[in-house]
Amino acid sequence: MTTTPVRYLVVPTAEAGGGARSARFGDRTLLWVPADQRLGRASRTAPGLLLVTQVGRSFQDDFPDVTPLLDRGRHLVISSADKPRRRSSHSWRVEPLRSGTTVVDVPSPSPARVDPAVADLVGALSPSSYQDDVTWFASLPTRHSLSPSFTTATDFAAARMVALGYGVTRTTVAVGSGTSENLIGDRPGTGGGGVVLITAHLDSVNHAGGPAANAPGADDNGSGAAGVLELGRLLAARSWRHDVRLILFGGEEQGLFGSKQYVASLPPAERARIRAVLNMDMVAGRNTAVPTVLLEGAQVSSGQLADLATAAATYTGLKVETSLNPFASDHVPFINAAIPAILTIEGADSANGHIHTATDTLNFLDWGLAAEILRMNVAALAGWLEPATSVTRPRPAGSVVAWGPGRLDVFAVGTDSALHHKAYDGTWKDFESLGGVVLS
Ligand SMILES: [Zn+2]
Repeated sequence: MTTTPVRYLVVPTAEAGGGARSARFGDRTLLWVPADQRLGRASRTAPGLLLVTQVGRSFQDDFPDVTPLLDRGRHLVISSADKPRRRSSHSWRVEPLRSGTTVVDVPSPSPARVDPAVADLVGALSPSSYQDDVTWFASLPTRHSLSPSFTTATDFAAARMVALGYGVTRTTVAVGSGTSENLIGDRPGTGGGGVVLITAHLDSVNHAGGPAANAPGADDNGSGAAGVLELGRLLAARSWRHDVRLILFGGEEQGLFGSKQYVASLPPAERARIRAVLNMDMVAGRNTAVPTVLLEGAQVSSGQLADLATAAATYTGLKVETSLNPFASDHVPFINAAIPAILTIEGADSANGHIHTATDTLNFLDWGLAAEILRMNVAALAGWLEPATSVTRPRPAGSVVAWGPGRLDVFAVGTDSALHHKAYDGTWKDFESLGGVVLS
């Protein structure tokens, strides 16, 4: 069998211009010969070229003999002569490359005016608390969805959420003939009526070794699961108009079982009040020269995607890439239900080759990248949750009054947002317990 050679050209995007017979992959654009000249008929897809979307390097691991024509890590272009028999697996998908599409964009978001309250929140990020949690998760032999140590990890995360003041629910998730769990932590807002979801999958997997094999899952997805706990910790220090809901899913690596079941179980009124879903899956692997985050959503989440890009430009040094080609993580079931969800994931110029193996370990993590992604995320979350009041520190809530000779009565709002009344005894000791400096 002879195959017509594929005629294409990859050029820097700046030199490509727009065009119906091109597809953009960030700073590279792929151009091809017009279909009608080659095939005698108009085509909306690139003749001889296929788009691959993969988790890590899963497609390349499954098909080591296929040489991608263009390799952008999460996204590849391959020749249709190399088309696999299957069109997809849990971790890769092959589809026609459509003309005029932007597979990955590199926007240049303008920084917004720095909000001091948000800057405080961003500055309160604790890299050490985050690292301790990732380290703990990765110290388990595996977090396979059906393993006893997945339950151990869930117990740990549940205890952390409870200590932070979240009300915790655990639901059973059917995964094939076994069961896993979703862990949900709720913290009510002050009455805004909406809810913002912060999600990650807690399970890990070792594809080659099977369920019993070592699967530390440091990046995939200890990094995202610990990110949920750290963002939950930051947000618990303030009060918000809308509800905060933390979710750690099980069964992701077997095919998004936890998130599919969760979305399917939502009554219409609950779906309607979701303002945003922020999903983190692999946020600590540095695959690019410049620290980069990929924001992956869909049309339904384009507003949230823009908010995250602005937050990155305002509060971090991250380079932002965006894609409206959602695939293979827990944001997808939400998007399929028209709920605005976004995946934040490490930039993938040359994708992480350690995930789903015994070598997804701490030594390959870049803590600085993870911290930057968490800073971006908490800044965007603050906007979606809306501060309940402008109060971030104890401050006088009313007048300082004297109710008797020689005494001063001070009213102050604490970081718990409650109004406290204490008699001034000549020191501010009593007020320091409210969380900070009270009066000048
Ligand atoms: Zn993952």
